[in-house]
Amino acid sequence: MESPASSSHVASLSCPLGDTSCQFLQELSTLRQEVDVLKEQVRTDALTGLYNFRFFSDALPLEMERASRSFQPLSLIVLDIDHFKGFNDRWGHEVGNRALSHVAQLIGLTIRKLDFACRFGGEEFVILLPNTDLRQAMNVAERLREIIANTPLLHEQDSITITASLGVDEYRGNHSDSPESFLERVDAWLYQAKHAGRNCVNGPVIPSADVSTTVTIEEKDALFGAFGSGD
Ligand code: GH3
Ligand code: MG
Ligand code: MG
Repeated sequence: MESPASSSHVASLSCPLGDTSCQFLQELSTLRQEVDVLKEQVRTDALTGLYNFRFFSDALPLEMERASRSFQPLSLIVLDIDHFKGFNDRWGHEVGNRALSHVAQLIGLTIRKLDFACRFGGEEFVILLPNTDLRQAMNVAERLREIIANTPLLHEQDSITITASLGVDEYRGNHSDSPESFLERVDAWLYQAKHAGRNCVNGPVIPSADVSTTVTIEEKDALFGAFGSGD
């Protein structure tokens, strides 16, 4: 994604009249800095500090385009906190907000710098993983599930366990897969994770490594037939 404009642009400008304490230049510098702050705010979720829905809506089609042009995999995780309504009812909205920040922090600790963690809305998060295939993304999702389940939120004398359910899928690089259909697929896996009892990860079955790399006797015979026995 585009990086924020830097106020160093202004530092490299000089007053055409050679005024070293030019009032307009100082004004321009202040405005540029304010624009940088606003740009950051526009794409950030105020509660958790993660990227927000607006950022995600822009990033998803861009990353899909990048993935299909570069023939690199792209994966998506949707994470939804379990029984969060009950959590709020029991502990109150403020503690609920702290739980959201807590989960966001754990997500930030678990993913790579290249990944985009966003608060999709409410108690739902999405993580976009460029250059990551399904197998790797399933591992990331499982690590996220574990760290959330094993890192309770500390509140006064209480240690409150939080769990989340996660759906995962990979973009297959074909243009019939739109951002909407990709997201819907991952959402459907999340729905299945909820249905399977929550606190779990769900996604497509990964073809076993054996299936793709093992050569059958018939295939071996065919290969030797094609290239000769070598003796
Ligand atoms: P499930 O396991 O099926 O996901 O159940 P759930 O209770 O988590 O899901 P549901 O959609 O029924 O409830 C979501 C709750 O999340 C209800 C809403 O009050 C709470 N919530 C959404 N946004 C916020 C927020 O910003 N702060 C707090 N504290 N709670 C929020
Ligand atoms: Mg929920
Ligand atoms: Mg939800």
